[in-house]
Amino acid sequence: MGDSGTKTIGVLALQGDFREHVASLTAVGANTAPVRRPADLDAVDALVVPGGESTAMWKLATTAEMFVPVRKRIADGMPAFGTCAGMIMLADRITDAAAGQETFGGLPITVRRNAFGRQTESFEEPIGFDGIGELTGVFIRAPWVEELDEGVEVLARVTSGPAIGRIVAVRQGNLLATSFHPELTADHRVHEYFVAMVNDRDAA
Ligand code: GLN
Repeated sequence: MGDSGTKTIGVLALQGDFREHVASLTAVGANTAPVRRPADLDAVDALVVPGGESTAMWKLATTAEMFVPVRKRIADGMPAFGTCAGMIMLADRITDAAAGQETFGGLPITVRRNAFGRQTESFEEPIGFDGIGELTGVFIRAPWVEELDEGVEVLARVTSGPAIGRIVAVRQGNLLATSFHPELTADHRVHEYFVAMVNDRDAA
């Protein structure tokens, strides 16, 4: 991080599909670095929290002593992007959490884990994403956003089926979260959107 003009986007690499995020970010020309320990975080300008399993991420992040430094960077305005389990990790509140489950927080939202139910654990559907347009949402045991505080912007909702209207992408300031997995598709526009957020922060 710093003055060189080239930003480095860290990808939390404790668990989950961090390699796919690295590939998507690389495809849109971003510099990336894996983040596994607090010192790694000092070397990055932004953080992606991948999809995976939020309870496993919580435990591994606790062992790696990542909670205090990540929360501090988020409070200081570091841009962060969470997908699926990563959305859960960036949410201030969880419904259907495991006992004692903690998140980094930062986004004043309540997410429901595994919200789409057993019949629809994994599915794809077209999503209209504000500022991007239509894209394919890949959902895997995904959460949705159940409540959001004032000031949180809704970027996408489910557009058909039993979960119609459910909120699946939000942004507040430098924090972005999606229920679905743009890193699992060849369409990198959401990563591009996040890279632009990181660069805009730099310009501010
Ligand atoms: N259900 C998972 C959790 O609670 C998230 C699934 C995912 O990231 N694909 O963390």
